[in-house]
Amino acid sequence: MAGTLSPASSVPDGHTQHSPAGNLRVSEIFFSLQGETSRVGLPTVFIRLTGCPLRCGYCDTEYAFHGGRSLSIAEILTEARGFGVRHVTVTGGEPLAQRGCLTLLRKLCDAGYSVSLETSGALDVSEVDMRVSKIMDIKTPGSGEVGKNRWSNLSHLTAHDEVKFVLCDETDYQWAVEVLRQHKLDILCPVLFSPVHGTLDPSTLAEWILRDRLPVRMQIQLHKLLWGEGPGR
Ligand code: SF4
Repeated sequence: MAGTLSPASSVPDGHTQHSPAGNLRVSEIFFSLQGETSRVGLPTVFIRLTGCPLRCGYCDTEYAFHGGRSLSIAEILTEARGFGVRHVTVTGGEPLAQRGCLTLLRKLCDAGYSVSLETSGALDVSEVDMRVSKIMDIKTPGSGEVGKNRWSNLSHLTAHDEVKFVLCDETDYQWAVEVLRQHKLDILCPVLFSPVHGTLDPSTLAEWILRDRLPVRMQIQLHKLLWGEGPGR
């Protein structure tokens, strides 16, 4: 899900899915540049939680579906603190698939971090701490998971959240434009249009956006420009 390759990452050390009560399964905690969203380029600690109930065709974080370490929230906070920066992104997989994610988000905010959450849009975001910036996907037909969109989530977004469409082709683009207009998303919060790396030519997407005068921000995953293929959503 998350937008970075990790120059300094900790690797999953097991394949057991069971964790002690209160613990979270964590695929990796690493430090890199934020590759997407309005926070692009900011040195950021990434906390990637294990597991996702979706199977998007373009997913490049399949390694986060299983395994990972069982860590308490205190242990996660200690690791995050070790990187010495104030921006933290909680990602996956689908981080909200683990109930303890809500507590982790709250405690990160309490500790003074500027926190963003990368979520698929398929799970309820209503209980996410209001201090967290939610980066919420709306899954397109090309993802293969359009039926998983939880449309009621839109009513829980505010101006400091962002909606993201990952686009495979022109059919996805036209679908996203229709959703954008129907739900007036650009009034709700910033809207991101992102081409699937290696599938939709970024310059083609740019031309469509300019042609249609869309009130969206186009983004290209910075980490893939810097470091090539790697995790991204
Ligand atoms: S792209 Fe994100 S939501 Fe889709 S399968 Fe991969 S981790 Fe899950």
